[in-house]
Amino acid sequence: MIGVAEPVFAIANIDVTLRAMRTIGLLLSIVLLGACGISPKSSETVLDLRTSYDFDICPLHNSRLEEGVEPIEYSHISFGYEYSGIRKRLFPLANIGDITHKEARTALVLYCPECRKAKEKWLMEWNEKECKKERNSE
Ligand SMILES: [Zn+2]
Repeated sequence: MIGVAEPVFAIANIDVTLRAMRTIGLLLSIVLLGACGISPKSSETVLDLRTSYDFDICPLHNSRLEEGVEPIEYSHISFGYEYSGIRKRLFPLANIGDITHKEARTALVLYCPECRKAKEKWLMEWNEKECKKERNSE
């Protein structure tokens, strides 16, 4: 009877030892990555903004909101002080290119396809104006 119980005990001990080694290895790699300035959390964090609204239809365009995955960039083109008002008035739910976050690189968003079209149109017009300004200043 003891002969049967002992191997089971030994296997259990090996299993505990392996688990402990894996845990130590994982902790060590986290510490090493942290020392290198690489935080696994920052590269993997996904910002979930899908719950930002309690409606699923764009109040401006009456279009159903869709889900999208958007990259988050640290720097944005400065469209001037009026941009915030323009965005709210013309494309409040475009949710593209305006997301900032310290840690996350990607965001899950809800967006209105018509807002995105409106933003695209506004961006093209803005680019044309900026090009004209540059041409006139030369
Ligand atoms: Zn819209």
